[in-house]
Amino acid sequence: MSKKITLGISSCLLGKSVRFNGSHKRSAYCVEELSEWFDYKPVCPEVEIGMGIPREPIRLVQQGEDIRVKNVTDHSKDFTDDLVALATEKVKDFSELDGFIFMQKSPSCGLFGVKVYNENGMPGPDPDQGAFAKKIQQAYPLMPMEEAGRLNDAVLRENFLTRVFAHAEWKEEVLSHPLPKSLVAFHTKYKYLLQVRSEKHYRELGQLVAKAGSEPFDELSQEYFTLFMFALSQRAVANDHVNVMHHMIGFIKNELDHASKHSILNLIDLYQKGDVELLVPLTLLKHYIEKYNVTYLINQKYLSPFPQSFDQYNQAQFKNKYFIS
Ligand code: SF4
Repeated sequence: MSKKITLGISSCLLGKSVRFNGSHKRSAYCVEELSEWFDYKPVCPEVEIGMGIPREPIRLVQQGEDIRVKNVTDHSKDFTDDLVALATEKVKDFSELDGFIFMQKSPSCGLFGVKVYNENGMPGPDPDQGAFAKKIQQAYPLMPMEEAGRLNDAVLRENFLTRVFAHAEWKEEVLSHPLPKSLVAFHTKYKYLLQVRSEKHYRELGQLVAKAGSEPFDELSQEYFTLFMFALSQRAVANDHVNVMHHMIGFIKNELDHASKHSILNLIDLYQKGDVELLVPLTLLKHYIEKYNVTYLINQKYLSPFPQSFDQYNQAQFKNKYFIS
């Protein structure tokens, strides 16, 4: 990546005291760790529509078929239209972003499972999204978006960050150089990462790449990227990782001595049983692939989905955790 990636973010996550009660929801992970790799474009929709600080709390309220954002005690105060209008106005400002981190549970910013109340103040069975976040996601369905709270889950965090870096890389490597060879190179390095997320989508993407050069590139690449981002958002299961790692070992099996082969297979086995994290066998596998200089695999995003500096940081975190010297 040649420059810092920019993410949109709910302002309260950066420690800005913009919440209804004048407090914030500072995320140490966003502020202290991710900020080394990302710039942020903060937004507090409720403040930007002029609700002020402090302000009376609001919530999602079911009104017939419609879901509205209303004052908790006075339902005549309805902020839906203002929040949607603000989101519509902001859409253009967000076109350069490669991802968005929203504050969870908020009737404005929540991305998943925000409670919807009935007119009598009782929570209903079907949650929804915050009005602002919903509009932004509709405008940018391919942009990676997550809630700060969900970034505590290692798998979701890894998935989100992988998509953010891929989104940025797509712009830098394919959109800026819209040629069939750029698409082929992009697809090639994502091969195993796509396979582990969804074999079916990996194959469909391969069929699209095969048409590059014979079909209009703009439409083809747009179709590719839509399917690509969907495939990356899939959650890989342990067995898929195990299959891919075994497949990669096939490239170095003649180089590995018996003890080395035994140790890597043993770690994969432990990972499959849930006794160690994925990074344990993956780190050793990557070590051998680099040692035996298997060029085709070294460039695979599956082994290094992040830019080098972020990858080193991730490895360092991992080593600290497992006391590897
Ligand atoms: S959740 Fe969104 S609307 Fe609420 S304080 Fe944070 S940034 Fe503002």
